[in-house]
Amino acid sequence: MNNASRTIPETMRAVSLRGGELALRQVPTPVPGPGQVLVRTLACAICASDHHFADHPEAARRDRSGMRVHAPERDVVMGHEYCAEIVAYGPDTRQKVPIGARVTSPPFILTPDGARVVGMAPDAPGGFGEYFLLSEAFVRALPEDVPAERLALIDALAVGWYYTRLGQAEPDRVPLVVGLGAIGLSVVMALKRRGAGTVVAADYNPERRALAEKLGADVVVDPRRTAAFAAWRTAAWGAPDEVHDRLALSGRPRCSVYECVGVDGVLADVIENCPPATRVFSAGGAASDTIPSSQAHLKGVNVQFGGGPGLDDWYETMDLVVSGGLDPQPLIGRTIGIGDLPAAFKEARSSSAPVRIVYTA
Ligand SMILES: [Zn+2]
Repeated sequence: MNNASRTIPETMRAVSLRGGELALRQVPTPVPGPGQVLVRTLACAICASDHHFADHPEAARRDRSGMRVHAPERDVVMGHEYCAEIVAYGPDTRQKVPIGARVTSPPFILTPDGARVVGMAPDAPGGFGEYFLLSEAFVRALPEDVPAERLALIDALAVGWYYTRLGQAEPDRVPLVVGLGAIGLSVVMALKRRGAGTVVAADYNPERRALAEKLGADVVVDPRRTAAFAAWRTAAWGAPDEVHDRLALSGRPRCSVYECVGVDGVLADVIENCPPATRVFSAGGAASDTIPSSQAHLKGVNVQFGGGPGLDDWYETMDLVVSGGLDPQPLIGRTIGIGDLPAAFKEARSSSAPVRIVYTA
């Protein structure tokens, strides 16, 4: 390590997952390996993927890519939505970005043992600690005049940017966003940014619906009052009448559904109720789902499970957040200190919690 302009402590405060317990602990400050950079956390948001990682160790065990590592006996410092500043470079680095510069990176890091998701392996600590590591190859410098907590949400917005790139590739697709958590709202923002004509969005939570409206959703539905697909058909076709016959679809706009709930059964419900020739984006990623494949087959439904965002989607989103083309500020409910992270982590599980709670240093 070299070029450190500030003294790097041997240990740091970090909220780590160990033995299934999330707690504020004193842990060794990570040391950057070849190609890596030590950064100081400026802001890091709590994401539903962190809950998923903590709650479903079997998912990490099943991940054959090795990018998520389940290690219950070791400290895993989560946090993959971050903004940070460069503190020191490891060996074999080009050091083009100066020490002290504000940076971010997609949540991936290259280690001597393979690629990891930042914050989902013991050797890839994330932003829930005072310091963490990034790969120099992925790091990009950020301007000082955009608040760090806003820059920390690039990763959250990249999800919507990715799905809408696929979902709106054909011009006649009218979108329906099901579930208005962080992913659903990022989809709404991305759809408006991409110029989608009519955006229909559904959620049971009135605050989330109000937020979607503020972010540009044109038709906002409470599924308790109106079936989401009836609202979609009225918006897209002018009447709530169902069309089952593929020939009768001729000349009508097709549907792109963004499933952003992530609860078992929602995808099946979408497939049962969507019009023929619908494209479904399973962004919510339920833990284990059963889908009516015969219905999907009859209707010619196309389902995309995950698969992104890619690096290009991520850096495009970064540029948009930096330029103000996408503004994550409305998603930020509150900023907190590191000691508040364990309690906020619990709170963030509730659908009535702010979309994002962000730790700022
Ligand atoms: Zn996330």
